[in-house]
Amino acid sequence: MIYLKTDEEIELMRVANHLVGATLAEVAKHIAPGVTTYQLDKIADEFIHDQGAIPLFKGYNGFPNALCISVNENVVHGIPGAYQLKEGDIVSVDCGAKINGYCGDSAYTFEVGEVDPAVKKLLQTTKESLYVGISHAVEGKRIGDIGNAIQHYCEDRGYGVVRELVGHGIGKEMHEAPEVPNYGKKGYGALLKSGMCIAIEPMINMGKKNVRFDKKDGWTVSTADRKPSAHFEHTVAIRPGKADILSTFELIDQVLQNK
Ligand code: MG
Ligand code: MG
Repeated sequence: MIYLKTDEEIELMRVANHLVGATLAEVAKHIAPGVTTYQLDKIADEFIHDQGAIPLFKGYNGFPNALCISVNENVVHGIPGAYQLKEGDIVSVDCGAKINGYCGDSAYTFEVGEVDPAVKKLLQTTKESLYVGISHAVEGKRIGDIGNAIQHYCEDRGYGVVRELVGHGIGKEMHEAPEVPNYGKKGYGALLKSGMCIAIEPMINMGKKNVRFDKKDGWTVSTADRKPSAHFEHTVAIRPGKADILSTFELIDQVLQNK
């Protein structure tokens, strides 16, 4: 069942997603060599609660923290902990929050100090692929059009597109129908209708597409070839002609420009 949101609900979604963007910007201020991923999580957890919101990931199927923090070869679902960021790392931060009964979900991959140019390129391409996907998230197109566009944009540039993890519908629940894969066939999948809200989130690998699931911690997904992976995510509302991007990277960009 795909829930179409009213205009009022979409404005509530925008509030939740703006808060997520503000949280990621707060985290961005503190990303530096020597900082632990647990410290970043604590900053986000407090920030979300201070705004009267609830972190969505904490307690989700037993996940222990407010953020998923995935460094270098870790793709998604990394658990914050004692790891200290170091110069040259990349760190994917995924954040979800609920306020006024509606959910926000967005992710950004940050550079720690000076990063290898080839890795920078991976981040840039992944971010670009997110906007390529969003350009197909319009009324009358299909879910497969979004995935197909992301897949070809990344594969044409030699990157691997993760298959095991996908984007999703979002609203009162963090994960609603439909699934939004980052691969697929043009003209296939659910028809996009105005008022559908979806999270589009390319997870793109420097090397091969294959991933492994950590059996010890039960959460962390990493690349099978141990090469780096990037993750960018926006929540958007389907509209005629052009998607309405409900989450924001603007606050993050302001922080990064002043660093
Ligand atoms: Mg997310
Ligand atoms: Mg998501």
